Amino acid sequence: MKVLLHICCANCAIYPIKTLRAEGMEVMGFFYPHNIHPYTECVRRREALETFAAQMALKVIYQDGYDLEGFIRNVAFRESERCNYCYHDRLRSTALIAKRGKFEAYSSTLLYSKQQQHDLIRSMGESIGKSVGVPFFYRDFRAGWKEGIEDSKQMGLYRQQYCGCIYSEKDRYYGK
Ligand code: SF4
Repeated sequence: MKVLLHICCANCAIYPIKTLRAEGMEVMGFFYPHNIHPYTECVRRREALETFAAQMALKVIYQDGYDLEGFIRNVAFRESERCNYCYHDRLRSTALIAKRGKFEAYSSTLLYSKQQQHDLIRSMGESIGKSVGVPFFYRDFRAGWKEGIEDSKQMGLYRQQYCGCIYSEKDRYYGK
């Protein structure tokens, strides 16, 4: 089966790619940049993914542009619920590209993170999949949380300290 995998960062992609390939899937990655702030951080994560992808012989589609302004506009005045918009836009963008590229399914490395809202991502992914017409491939990749971290350290990949948006950077550092 041909699967398009939304990749939030190289570290979170290690275990899902290993798992999907072990199950016989043909995986291509998709990198969405608009929720990663500031721009220099986005470049750093993209470069880490490029290094990782070269090591893994993984093809990746990198979304054009850097719409930080659009992201901020869409979460303004409801910052505490920003992850809903963020998940939805990332999953929908992936599903649309999967549909256009005739992939048989799409998925996301967000399912690997223990720090994300796993059940919400699953239900959103499934509902977007139905509306776009490409199934959402679900696995609980959190089972490989430790393994993924160990592998990423061994590979010497850049490991970021916050989720992505500028709000999460504040949550991570402000007042600590
Ligand atoms: S905390 Fe993470 S998931 Fe939530 S809006 Fe920011 S980048 Fe997106």
